[in-house]
Amino acid sequence: MPDKKAPAAKPGPAFDAVIVGAGFAGMYMLHRLRRLGFSARVFEAGGDVGGTWYWNRYPGARCDVESVQYSYQFDAALEQEWEWSERYAAQPELLRYARHVADRFDLKRDIQFNTRVISARFDAAQGHWLVETGDRACTSAAFCIMATGCLSSPNLPCFKGLDSFAGDRYHTGHWPHEDVDFRGKRVAIIGTGSSAVQSIPIIARRAEHLYVFQRTPNYAVPAHNRPLDADALTKVKADYPAMRKRAKQTMTGIDFDYSDKKALETAAADRQREYERRWRHGGLWFLGAYQDLMVDQAANDTAAEFVRGKIRQRVSSQEVAELLAPKNTIGCKRLCVDIGYYETFNRENVTLVDVSTEPIEHITARGLRARGVDYEVDAIVFATGFDAMTGSLLRIDISGRNGLTLETKWQEGPRSYLGVAIAQFPNLFMITGPGSPSVLTNMLPTIEQHVEWIADALAFMRARGIALIEPSGEAEADWVGHVAELAGRTLRYTCGSWYLGVNIPGKPRVFMPYIGGFPKYVEHCNEIAANGYQGFVLT
Ligand code: NAP
Repeated sequence: MPDKKAPAAKPGPAFDAVIVGAGFAGMYMLHRLRRLGFSARVFEAGGDVGGTWYWNRYPGARCDVESVQYSYQFDAALEQEWEWSERYAAQPELLRYARHVADRFDLKRDIQFNTRVISARFDAAQGHWLVETGDRACTSAAFCIMATGCLSSPNLPCFKGLDSFAGDRYHTGHWPHEDVDFRGKRVAIIGTGSSAVQSIPIIARRAEHLYVFQRTPNYAVPAHNRPLDADALTKVKADYPAMRKRAKQTMTGIDFDYSDKKALETAAADRQREYERRWRHGGLWFLGAYQDLMVDQAANDTAAEFVRGKIRQRVSSQEVAELLAPKNTIGCKRLCVDIGYYETFNRENVTLVDVSTEPIEHITARGLRARGVDYEVDAIVFATGFDAMTGSLLRIDISGRNGLTLETKWQEGPRSYLGVAIAQFPNLFMITGPGSPSVLTNMLPTIEQHVEWIADALAFMRARGIALIEPSGEAEADWVGHVAELAGRTLRYTCGSWYLGVNIPGKPRVFMPYIGGFPKYVEHCNEIAANGYQGFVLT
């Protein structure tokens, strides 16, 4: 007989965890939690897994980290069975890979697709989260884990007359799933960041004419993409454990050869040879040439001038080459990796429109007006980037203790502990949130590290009967200060990048990622966990 005086047991939440997003982060989080015996429900706005690679289907979309490194390492059999076909995988292959992982680990049965999370509210009385989805359902869970991605909230600037355009409109970050046929079309593309640098050469080959509206030129280094032959893959597969280990010891989590030499202590001719060697090798490796490139402007200028020289060689019109040659710090904005980008401007059907001194005036029914000229086009491609790092979190109405909303908490910029957790938001975790190395590193190993750390924290709590975890305000403030202090030491402040939030009107100007490098960050995380989750309040 039950004791009539005993209080009624609190109904438990429906799931141990709700995970928001089924990109690489959400997928692995689900797998890891399942393996530990936790129940989880994933909500995904898209119709399939893949996150970034589900949405960014623009022509030419491909990874700028080599495929063999931009891949999961948590399962050796998966690593061995998957055959990457190119040095830099293109979007369709990356999406196939994500689908393969989902099938291999039977993930889809716990993922609800086509379901956008609208709000997440911490219910203090029950000690759990209530997550509301677009289908008007409400799901309770002890933990809410945001796997919402760093670059997943597309930015469409509010151009005057935007809605009056009668032609086709596309955003690189939200590309249609159907084929887009630019043949015989006059196309305008706005933006010259990574997405544009990848798509411009392909669109130019198809369109009748392509107008590129450039506000700020970007540095791009050649990818030297190539098919991966069987021999090369066999070698990589045999070396996977060692390669992953080496990668984890580098700042970016990429197995690169980072020089410890300084550009300014190297003779000019040797420096030129080293830049040339790295240029021929291709990819982001270029910036590993010298350790002072991102901290000393004079050192940086040597690399920047080298790339400007290459642009002048690759572009036949010197007037166009000068417009394409960036004047700012190389690596301040994300370095682009290109396949025939600069040469595209040698084509007769490509026109570069410089809008650096006069913004695009407005969009009309038939095209765009800039610098007093009307450009009539059939389609406009907005390659205008993302509300990075915070956008995908803030578009969900998240509230923690006492109804404190994340929007209010982050009014002056994102605040978190390790980029993983937020004071006043118990049992809420972010994977690669602001304050973590995330976008400055190879996303896959970074995601895996976060997922494993979060899963370990949940297991730790379960083993000790702990219900709630949240950072103390003091630990959070210290971390925010540390992240800002490190960022202040680099040249990353010298340009208006999305790292700083400058691309979004009204967004606080805060350098969002942790710049101390992957190994240091992991050391911090491990030390905190080893000390019983130091800086967290556990109740
Ligand atoms: P982005 O780097 O933010 O570039 C946006 C572009 O749009 C910039 O050139 C920007 O000019 C321009 N723009 C924005 N508003 C404008 C306006 N009102 N008028 C004229 N131009 C305007 O965005 P993204 O190219 O999508 O790349 C974002 C990030 O995603 C990259 O940095 C990278 O981390 C990631 N990504 C990676 C890959 C890859 O793996 N290969 C590919 C694509 C993207 P300003 O510079 O003057 O603001």
